[in-house]
Amino acid sequence: MTTTTTTHQGRVPRLFVDADLAEGAEVALSQPQAHYLGRVVRLRAGDPVLVFNGRDGEWRAVLGAAHARRTGLIVDARLRAQPPQPDLHLLFVPLKQARLDYLIQKAVEMGAGRVRPVLSDHGQVRKLNLRRARANAVEAAEQCAILTIPAIDEMRPLDDVLADWTATENGRRLVFADEASERADPLAVLASLGASPLALLVGPEGGFSPAEREQLRAHDAVVPVPLGPRILRADTATVAALALIQAAAGDWRGQPPHAAGNDTL
Ligand code: SAH
Repeated sequence: MTTTTTTHQGRVPRLFVDADLAEGAEVALSQPQAHYLGRVVRLRAGDPVLVFNGRDGEWRAVLGAAHARRTGLIVDARLRAQPPQPDLHLLFVPLKQARLDYLIQKAVEMGAGRVRPVLSDHGQVRKLNLRRARANAVEAAEQCAILTIPAIDEMRPLDDVLADWTATENGRRLVFADEASERADPLAVLASLGASPLALLVGPEGGFSPAEREQLRAHDAVVPVPLGPRILRADTATVAALALIQAAAGDWRGQPPHAAGNDTL
């Protein structure tokens, strides 16, 4: 659902919408969105709302007069241009639903541009609820003033992903969080990858099977990376590895000052 950005006018809600955004556009609100703005945040006609759709950047809008049918928003000014879709991919073996919700939200906050669930020998979930995963991604973007929503793939068997990797991923390296790899400095390993496009693969709570690990370590695009001397839970390892990747080779290097939402409306 929506969240709010604090400004001199109090707290301005931030809302994801599917509609195209342009000056003067009228955007219909879903029933839950209209209820939230009207009843929970208690906005009145003319009050500002920040809107984004993952394509057109972030716009200022105002709440229209409540029609008998449905309240809408009138879009007036673009506050932030649409940033490029992050190029970092996250491959993971879906965990139980609650931890999966958490993992999708962290992937958005940590700057993954594409989320790719894989089936593995020890995975517990055979099918991903794509609608729920997307709702979690949208919620994380609303809460953190992120304007890009990651693409979320259907689940694929790890074997298939590895089989067509070289042909389809043009040079992307697959950073494999491998708790059995020999001790090395993960930052040095990641720094050695230079400007290659990257993907991260984290295993399930039960880890990868010996056969899977052998298959991964034999693959020429795979870069095994240890994450310290302790075994981490899969969701902890995911956030830790994404942080290392962003710091060593991603968009945390020399990041500009806090560039999130435009707080002066
Ligand atoms: N096989 C582990 C459990 C897997 S932990 C065990 O011995 O119990 C879940 C996933 O998190 C692993 O598949 C791996 O991708 C990642 N992970 C956890 N700890 C890690 C570490 N210290 N280094 C690298 N990856 C780790």
